Amino acid sequence: MKKLSTHSFELGAIRPPSEGGSHSLLIRVTRNCPWSRCKFCYGTPYNREKFQLRGVEDIKKDIQAAKTISDEIKQVSWQLGYAGQINNVVGSTIIQREPNLSESHSFVTVFNWLNSGGRTAFLQDADSLIMRTPDLIEVIKYLRETFPSLERITSYARAKTICRKTLEELKGIRVAGLNRLHVGLESGDDELLEHIDKGVTAEQNIIAGRKAKETGFEFSAYVMPGLGGPSRSEQHAKNTARVLNEINPHYIRFRPFVPRPNTPLFDEYQSGKLQISSPHERLRELKTMIEALTVTSRVCFDHMMNAWRKESGELLFTQDYEGYKFPEEKERVLELIEEGLRVSELLHIDAKDMVAMPHL
Ligand code: SF4
Repeated sequence: MKKLSTHSFELGAIRPPSEGGSHSLLIRVTRNCPWSRCKFCYGTPYNREKFQLRGVEDIKKDIQAAKTISDEIKQVSWQLGYAGQINNVVGSTIIQREPNLSESHSFVTVFNWLNSGGRTAFLQDADSLIMRTPDLIEVIKYLRETFPSLERITSYARAKTICRKTLEELKGIRVAGLNRLHVGLESGDDELLEHIDKGVTAEQNIIAGRKAKETGFEFSAYVMPGLGGPSRSEQHAKNTARVLNEINPHYIRFRPFVPRPNTPLFDEYQSGKLQISSPHERLRELKTMIEALTVTSRVCFDHMMNAWRKESGELLFTQDYEGYKFPEEKERVLELIEEGLRVSELLHIDAKDMVAMPHL
């Protein structure tokens, strides 16, 4: 059997957990974050490097490298009699013959992507929409042409960047084949947004969400329970519910706040300026927020930071990427919150205990 080539392509540090779940093909179209100021994020490894746009030709070369790796893996499948199907036997055969490939992030990414159907791709890093619209469209079209099996392409985007694009630009990007935008709203409370230096107002979050939906994107909104600590809990809950109701995103994804070492909010926490809310305080905040929601979204707790427990020790909420369908399952979520509030706080995992956990 012929040796696999050593093609590789550039990969960024992060992607949303839901894209990890589908083993999305990761294509890096920009490097790092053009804002890099949010106080809960700035200072993390992801944000220490300077933001850079990448050239379209460089990105195309990466897509071509991923294609070469994909073709070579499929060739092995044919040689083994699996007619191009990818499975673990194909993977272990390749690794037995070329053990060094298990350390190639490019190979592992492409193999896992093929092994889970080759249907989704994610454009890295923090704000792909900041690319010039014609460049982004060219990249998306090229990615679609190169991998016709792709059913979904998604990306992170800043609300401010979506606001800056015209409806025509957004439509063009959508028609080219970008399906879903993952946007960190974090909160709908202006005071809190300013405090964390999000660089976006509640109103801009609403405009961005509506524009994205109007132009045909699936909108996946991230919210941080506990971000305001106990003192800003109520305003955070009520104003975030208001913004979410105005947008009615396809997905609402909860990412409870945990202060990360080296970030400004971690320093505030260490100096005693910022109080971290307890597991029950966070559940009460969620209750206020969820009671006020009138959305038809899928509400998801698809991250390990949603660590509340039931009496049995099981996770309180499913961490499934499709979560709970609202309004049908709103009562169910409220019942679960009540259940979590009956469990002793000592049984829940406190945000303070998660400070050193990896930020996925
Ligand atoms: S926009 Fe996103 S990636 Fe950039 S600093 Fe804020 S949270 Fe971090």
